[in-house]
Amino acid sequence: MTRITEVTRTKKKGKIAVFFLIAAVLGLGLLLVEKDASKFNAQCPRDYFCDNRCPVDAISLDEHGFPQIDKSICLSWVPEKDEFDWDKCGLCLQGCPTRVIDLLNSDLEEREKHTLN
Ligand code: SF4
Repeated sequence: MTRITEVTRTKKKGKIAVFFLIAAVLGLGLLLVEKDASKFNAQCPRDYFCDNRCPVDAISLDEHGFPQIDKSICLSWVPEKDEFDWDKCGLCLQGCPTRVIDLLNSDLEEREKHTLN
C-alpha cells in the first residue's frame, strides 16, 4: 500500500514538473516575441520590396529580417531637417504595401531602431 502511494506521489510530482517546464518555455517565448515587437515590425510584411528597389543599397536587414536604412547613404535623408524627404527618392516607400517606411519620419523611437548612422 505504501509503495502504491509513493508511486502516485512520484507521478504527481512529475506532472507538476512538466507543467512548470511548459510554463517556463511559454514565458520565454513571450519574452522573445515582446523583444521583437514594435510598431514598425507589426506593419512590415518583410517582403523586401524596399531592399530590392533601393538604388544605392542603403537598406540592410536587422537580425530579425526587418529593414534598416543607412541615413548616410539614403538619397532621401535630409540631415538639416532631421527627416526623410521622400520626394528626393522614396522608391522604398512607393511600393511598400503598408507604407510602413513613412513611420521613420513620424516616430523617432522607430527611427532609432530602423536606421543606421
Ligand atoms: S529613399 Fe531611396 S535611397 Fe533611401 S532607402 Fe529608400 S530607396 Fe534607398
